Amino acid sequence: MSPPVFRFAPSPNGRLHLGHAYSALLNEKMAREAGGRFLLRIEDIDRPRCTDALTEAMLADLAWLGLAWEEPVLRQSEHLPDYQAAQRRLRDKGLLYPCFCSRRDIALATAETGERDPEGQPLYPGTCRHLSAEDRSRRLANGEPHAWRLAMDKAVASIGVPLYFSEEGSSVPAQAEAWGDVVLARKDIGTSYHIAVVVDDARQGVTQVVRGRDLFHATSIHLVLQHLLGLPTPRYLHHALIDDAEGRKLSKSLGSKSLADLRAEEVTAQDVWQALGFE
Ligand code: GLU
Repeated sequence: MSPPVFRFAPSPNGRLHLGHAYSALLNEKMAREAGGRFLLRIEDIDRPRCTDALTEAMLADLAWLGLAWEEPVLRQSEHLPDYQAAQRRLRDKGLLYPCFCSRRDIALATAETGERDPEGQPLYPGTCRHLSAEDRSRRLANGEPHAWRLAMDKAVASIGVPLYFSEEGSSVPAQAEAWGDVVLARKDIGTSYHIAVVVDDARQGVTQVVRGRDLFHATSIHLVLQHLLGLPTPRYLHHALIDDAEGRKLSKSLGSKSLADLRAEEVTAQDVWQALGFE
């Protein structure tokens, strides 16, 4: 049997904090204990927020922590055409539609319903889903800025069977409909976290996704995309966030400072492991 494959997949849009360190150390420890592989993936599709300088700083922080990962490191900014190809496949299946709404349009439209997605953001009411084919073509031909959204109920219906994911060994039913028509290609960058994460977990042969609990609900979206694109579904473990209860205790000693700040204060990597419960 091939060894399990773990990955740590940070977005370099700022310096790393203790929460990142926890996730990275947990992935590395689980991989080591399972005789598995530990990969690092830089989720830097969001240019210019995710800069090369921040990526380099992040790699230095991870090395300082004492982590070792397999080379080469996958940088998502170098694979944008792959995410676009996956989007095209979904578009060819008739599951995506262009959305011309601004944030303000969405806020206004949802002010009445008050409906929220699982992350508490306004639930997109499907405004652009109802545009006529002529309107759509005209606006696209005019080069109007647009995102591409997944017609979620259609996508779920096309799969036709209930989806489940394995979370720490238990089977969890996916509830993707609660997200409504999520954006798969953002207006500003032409792609999205959801598409990139499923394409790359499959490309890298990731078998165990270990990440923060903030991404638990998004897993339902990932499941739908994996099924639509014929990609395997890894096993999942969503760990507690270091900035909740446990983190508050921690923050008394180490604070919500970045690893770089802690390093400058002569905190050692070993102090960080200990504070995070890795020794
Ligand atoms: N890049 C994401 C983040 O930094 C994590 C993605 C994942 O682990 O699936 O929040």
